Amino acid sequence: MSQPTIYQNYINGAFESVDDHLEVYNPANQALLSRVPESGSADVERALAAARAAQKGWGARPAVERAAFLHRLASKLRENVASLARVITEEQGKVIALAETEVNFTADYLDYMAEWGRRIEGEIIESDRPGENIFLFRKPLGVVAGILPWNFPFFLIARKMAPALVTGNTIVIKPSEETPNNCFEFAKLVDTLDLPPGVFNVVSGSGATTGSALTSSSEVDMISFTGSVATGSRIMANAAENITKLNLELGGKAPAIVLDDADIDLAVKAIHGSRIINSGQVCNCAERVYVQRGVADAFIEKMAKAMDATRYGDPLAHNDLDMGPLINQAGLDKVAKMVETAQREGAELITGGNVADLGAGYHYQPTVLAGCRQEMAIMRQEIFGPVLPVQIVDDLEEAIALANDSDYGLTSSVYTRSLKHTMQACRGLDFGETYVNRENFEAMQGFHAGVRKSGVGGADGKHGLYEYTHSHVVYLEA
Ligand code: NAD
Repeated sequence: MSQPTIYQNYINGAFESVDDHLEVYNPANQALLSRVPESGSADVERALAAARAAQKGWGARPAVERAAFLHRLASKLRENVASLARVITEEQGKVIALAETEVNFTADYLDYMAEWGRRIEGEIIESDRPGENIFLFRKPLGVVAGILPWNFPFFLIARKMAPALVTGNTIVIKPSEETPNNCFEFAKLVDTLDLPPGVFNVVSGSGATTGSALTSSSEVDMISFTGSVATGSRIMANAAENITKLNLELGGKAPAIVLDDADIDLAVKAIHGSRIINSGQVCNCAERVYVQRGVADAFIEKMAKAMDATRYGDPLAHNDLDMGPLINQAGLDKVAKMVETAQREGAELITGGNVADLGAGYHYQPTVLAGCRQEMAIMRQEIFGPVLPVQIVDDLEEAIALANDSDYGLTSSVYTRSLKHTMQACRGLDFGETYVNRENFEAMQGFHAGVRKSGVGGADGKHGLYEYTHSHVVYLEA
């Protein structure tokens, strides 16, 4: 059996050890993978001080130079796809093909954000006063704290660091305690490049210790957080003390609406794909279906077949799987309990419904529940597992009302061949995103943002980039 890797924090361009450690395990076979720092507030403050000291010089460079670093980093990632993907799969459990996609997408994302280096623009605004000029500059915020979840741990480093760095900020990243290894591998690649010390830092540790120290520090100018609503709310309370700017990407409970006039095969393929990708542990994957009565039986039958055909297991032992295990025992227990409760509340189990005993790992059977009703927990709370609850509706109007009746408002989807129904759904759905006749997966040039408890602010594209800047308006009479 191989020895666990010992990782160190990356602060001010150097790897540093700390006294306390956390252990990281493989969710497919419970093997110990690594020991990583459990960073205390002194470590966090040192990382923030390094980021502060580096920011002035970094922010003063032409944006195109900052962008050039991101392009070089993208190339490094592409040279190391196979080894990085393996690290991601080992600690997170996603299938290796998806981990490779995550690494390649991350490299593309770095390149995309780097392209903004020559496109950061201010404004010249018409004044009421003769001879006056009004200029709006865009300036970096300063030091960003990036706090990451475990489900797309590698991509989310870039989603935070790329817009932060290209606009002239510096950053301290705290990966999830479930998946810190890939973040340290990312830092090792950063370290091979010519980035000034302190621009990019990584401190690992638990949320209660490291995360709390980071989000309550007055040395942070912006907290960019992706994770659960409960943690987002705690971070908001921490940030209140210092009035720190927040960008919160929180949970989702994405509704998929399937109408009588839909292409049912397409709907089944897209919803099944959205539901099982990353074992259903995705903030924007279809978490509840509202299917119109006329196609309900056909949809449920075909979806059950698709779920039954899903191949799952240990993603490093097999290379032709659709999904791997859930992240940990708590995640597995939560999914199992939600399915049991739904059945007790009257849902009909069509297929699946059990923990899958594969000898090791946190596996759950792909599951379809029919006869669900809006008041059931399974239609209201994030499942984060390969379980699809289905409720029958009479028409689009009812589906839209039920879809909107949620604490969450991240993504939604609709399946229909009618342009009229498409436009009715787009007008009626109160969500950050709606996917029409396709799987739920956002583009880097879009804007990924939720309403209600799904978040504050957003990521990607021009709007995501400018979240990492503040405006400075100058009134000049000349
Ligand atoms: P989580 O909220 O448990 O943890 C996220 C991060 O917050 C971790 O790094 C954790 O250590 C840290 N943290 C915990 N307590 C903290 C505290 N008091 N102060 C500061 N940091 C703290 O979330 P998770 O289980 O890692 O991720 C799953 C959740 O993330 C789901 O709800 C999912 O929907 C959401 N998510 C949202 C998006 C999006 O774009 N909206 C993307 C991916 C995941």
